[in-house]
Amino acid sequence: MHVKTIILGGGISGLTAAFRLHEASEEFLLLESEDRIGGKVISSEQDGHILEHGPNTFLSSYAPLMELIDRLGLHGEIRFAAPEAKKRYVLRNRRLVALPTTPKQLIATRLLGPLAKLRLLLEPVVARRSAGTDESFERFVARHFGRQVVQRIAGPFVSGIFAGDPAKLSVAAAFPQVYRLEQEHRSLFKAMKAGAQRPRLCSVAGGIGQITKHLASRVQEETVLNAYAQRIQWREDHYLVTTGTHEYDCDHLILAVPAYAAMRLLEEINAPAAAELRDIPSVPVKVIHSIVPRAAVAHPMDGFGYLVPRGEKIRHLGTIFNTACFPHHSREGEALLTTFMGGAFDAEAVDTPDDQLLEELQREHATLGIYTGEPIYSSVTAWPRAIPQYHLGHLERIARLYQSMRKTPGIHLAGNYLNGISLGACVESGNTAADSVLTGPRA
Ligand SMILES: Cc1cc2nc3c(=O)[nH]c(=O)nc-3n(C[C@H](O)[C@H](O)[C@H](O)COP(=O)(O)OP(=O)(O)OC[C@H]3O[C@@H](n4cnc5c(N)ncnc54)[C@H](O)[C@@H]3O)c2cc1C
Repeated sequence: MHVKTIILGGGISGLTAAFRLHEASEEFLLLESEDRIGGKVISSEQDGHILEHGPNTFLSSYAPLMELIDRLGLHGEIRFAAPEAKKRYVLRNRRLVALPTTPKQLIATRLLGPLAKLRLLLEPVVARRSAGTDESFERFVARHFGRQVVQRIAGPFVSGIFAGDPAKLSVAAAFPQVYRLEQEHRSLFKAMKAGAQRPRLCSVAGGIGQITKHLASRVQEETVLNAYAQRIQWREDHYLVTTGTHEYDCDHLILAVPAYAAMRLLEEINAPAAAELRDIPSVPVKVIHSIVPRAAVAHPMDGFGYLVPRGEKIRHLGTIFNTACFPHHSREGEALLTTFMGGAFDAEAVDTPDDQLLEELQREHATLGIYTGEPIYSSVTAWPRAIPQYHLGHLERIARLYQSMRKTPGIHLAGNYLNGISLGACVESGNTAADSVLTGPRA
């Protein structure tokens, strides 16, 4: 069967590319290996609570994502997080301590010792721009704010986004906005004072899955589920994609699959590109939902949630207080919490039996004074390869990857291992891949 464009992968990246081609009245087929569409985006409903099994929120600052939501007619469905969600907690000696947001709070906080506070306040004086060489997030933060800020604040912040190791993540690749602020202002404190706007945290009525559900419904006729692409071959003037049951010829191929899957598919026809992809690791994460009676909740839950620094002897990485962030996503009289386990320092969590993890988590939540007793409902979602890691050298790796892709014109990449892991970055990558089908060279 000949199709002008084949898209592999029906996560948000592939769906965005598909929707763009659909809007341009282009001929295409989207092949998804699973029996459901959406990839890491899964929202479900449980007795009046919206559970997010993958992404929980997105930022209003991502124009391509906001535009996509508009085009899907979902603008009126955007839900902004409650003002309380601006407050975030970090554990210190097994107690939840609010992150300081004003200079007064900073002076008073129990999170840092007096010398660390002094070091932090000296940042506008001592800060220097990086020399241009790739630097780890850990070194970057230590250079600006001192080591204690890395251990007690920035480290857990990295767990909350990448579930990664701050000593290995490249600041320029993983946190380009922060890196840019340094390049523009030298001092990050000065940058904040200059009024770097804080974007708003959003979701969608019914959960983030509504975005992928609406995308999927627009391209339903061009979507094939349970279609695992096993092999890509080059045949004279086109590509041949083989699934377990079908063969497809195409002029363009959008690979919107995770890095490890793209690596396998490219091994045969573009070994140098596959070699670059092999060096992008991903970490496992388990997402645990707990629904508890409001009466059993001991903490005021007046914030987004909390993050756990290493060394606290607490296994989980952090917990979101969903009920405080998006009250309409929760049922009255009950509280929903979403907890993350695993990541770069606890890869074994993904193989630990769910019952054991749930018990451990319940004990830890009680120790931290979050709630007492047993949850009314718990669920565990395992992502063995949850989040790609942008390690040192990532930007150069991606540049070499694009260079290698010239060997196979007509194959376009999209996904969360390229220029950002967020939903916004994935949408942008899907748009870019579709645009290169519309304007770029074919096979
Ligand atoms: C637990 C968790 C929490 C997150 N939280 C947030 C958050 O709060 N905010 C945020 O912005 N981002 C968050 N992210 C990141 C974001 O959700 C992901 O980066 C994004 O959803 C990835 O989308 P994707 O389409 O690139 O890849 P995926 O969603 O992985 O989709 C790839 C698709 O390709 C399919 N596929 C794989 N191999 C093949 C093959 N050979 N043939 C055909 N199909 C194939 C897969 O089945 C899958 O459906 C989170 C991620 C996780 C895991």
